[in-house]
Amino acid sequence: GGFAAFLLDGVTGSGKTEVYFEAIAEALRVDPQAQVLVMLPEIALTQAILSRFEARFGAAPAPWHSGLSDKERRRTWREAAHGRARIVIGARSALFLPYANLKLVIVDEEHDGSYKQEDGVTYHARDMAVMRAKLEGAGVVLASATPALETVVNAEAGRYTRLMLAARPGMARLPDVELVDLRRAPPEKNHWLSPHLTHALQETLAAGEQSLLFLNRRGYAPLVICKACGERLKTPGTENWLTEHRYSGRLVCHVTGYSIPKPGVCPACGAKDSLMGVGPGVERVAEEVRVLMPQARIEIFSSDTAMGGDATRGIIERMETGDIDVLIGTQIVAKGHNFPNLTLVGVVDADSGMKGGDLRAGERTYQLLSQVAGRAGRAERPGRALVQTYAPDNPAMLALADGDRDGFLQIERDVRAELGLPPFGRLAALILSAPSAEMVDEAARDISLAAPNGAGIELFGPAPAPITVLRGRHRRRFLVKSPRNVDLSAYMAAWMGRLKLPRPVRVSVDIDPYSFM
Ligand SMILES: [Zn+2]
Repeated sequence: GGFAAFLLDGVTGSGKTEVYFEAIAEALRVDPQAQVLVMLPEIALTQAILSRFEARFGAAPAPWHSGLSDKERRRTWREAAHGRARIVIGARSALFLPYANLKLVIVDEEHDGSYKQEDGVTYHARDMAVMRAKLEGAGVVLASATPALETVVNAEAGRYTRLMLAARPGMARLPDVELVDLRRAPPEKNHWLSPHLTHALQETLAAGEQSLLFLNRRGYAPLVICKACGERLKTPGTENWLTEHRYSGRLVCHVTGYSIPKPGVCPACGAKDSLMGVGPGVERVAEEVRVLMPQARIEIFSSDTAMGGDATRGIIERMETGDIDVLIGTQIVAKGHNFPNLTLVGVVDADSGMKGGDLRAGERTYQLLSQVAGRAGRAERPGRALVQTYAPDNPAMLALADGDRDGFLQIERDVRAELGLPPFGRLAALILSAPSAEMVDEAARDISLAAPNGAGIELFGPAPAPITVLRGRHRRRFLVKSPRNVDLSAYMAAWMGRLKLPRPVRVSVDIDPYSFM
């Protein structure tokens, strides 16, 4: 009883889930009215996980996620409020249900970026879960195979009790990870798989085993360009490139959702059949594998091909029954599915997540890729992961190859401590937008002049926001850095209080930003 916070730090195959199942069973046993909330990233909230809870605890948990109907939402809300739902399993907003007697909160995959709410009211569900548990006098367990640096630092400061789980014999273990240096052995022109990886794919197919290729890019090509005039096709009024989707025959903006049928002529110069896709998406990698291994059964697993639970279940079942030889997927494949006959994982472009330069890019890349690599192999059939990179000396890549998670966290910690970045300092982003570039630049000057003086406050910007134009609005960004002991929220509020901006200008503040967009 009473508030207590734990970090459950367990590598793949350590039986982490079984450990928190025990904690849930214990909480329910000690207090016959106790309620338990299990939080998962939205993408991991599958029927399979709900069934696993039902099998273990004898009753279906009450679900809470964006796919529920209004009726289902009302039911979960009511059951939580009346205390009849003993176990609620949901995405981050499940935290705000009116529990009658919440005694334990589990945050699984606590490092996952989807716990940070960025639209409207910004909050981090992991931190909110700890606060809520404190208010309720409940326990909270943060579980991960690759905990966030923030969480590790909190554990080392004694704010959380850290429970380390080692891999158990007979369980899945991490595969051998090998970096493929694309500078030395690149793919052929207009191909994306290196000779080393194509050879491994053929070997795996010949052995009757399954492969997974990971590329976190939907569609066929992330950019469409005119061979005649060089025009790059964008969403009107923005700088966002349109992605070519071959299966649907459309060009789609992944930022705004704007989409058009692929035009037969270039909209800029009118040349016929001159538009071509540049760069790889999962559809294009599938095409390459089809040419390489015509006899292989190939499927794509992305939010385009797995819309809804039935399609997702279908792909998972065909993997389990061995009806797929090569699965090509986006980050949707990183979560939770274990296929016993999957022995090869190929990461097509390990560097893609490192671009954009935000402070967690390396950490996030390490977490995602070690999760993807962890899909390969079981105890009786070891797996391997081939990671294609142009930056094999990057600390995240080296740590991945050496399986040296703690060494990587140490480097990350040293860099951030040196620079005074979170969790050792505080950071806020201020984004302003306006209908025209002139108006937004003028507002940015006014905002800059209105900044209060504050001890230790460092102000960077204004600079164009990474998404410079969004839905017809031009965007600029300030970053504000402060030491840990400064109340940065109060500073930002004081700053905002001084602003008198024309109505079309909008300002939003994000404390401890994650996406930096
Ligand atoms: Zn053209």
